[in-house]
Amino acid sequence: MTIEHAQLYCETCEKVTNHELHYAGRLLESVRCSRCETQFELSQRALLPAYVRDLESRIASKPRRMLHRATRDPLGFARQLPGAILRQPRKFVREFWSLIRR
Ligand SMILES: [Zn+2]
Repeated sequence: MTIEHAQLYCETCEKVTNHELHYAGRLLESVRCSRCETQFELSQRALLPAYVRDLESRIASKPRRMLHRATRDPLGFARQLPGAILRQPRKFVREFWSLIRR
């Protein structure tokens, strides 16, 4: 388990706070607000590697589709995270978080 930190907006605290990003290997498992302890779990373990690779290519070539999906179906989108975070973990997590916390 690797823990990284990032400044993200917390809906509970209603402000930008320090968050812990818990990684299992290269995959993000959960995000936790250090201030109020609210935790957001990601269940990407069920994903098949082939599916992840497919998502990676789709996400890379269809950023607009990804954003549309994220705003319409945040939880379904969360399950697509692993493919994308393999590329730019911190940047992606920050973008994703800001999308679902809007
Ligand atoms: Zn908080």
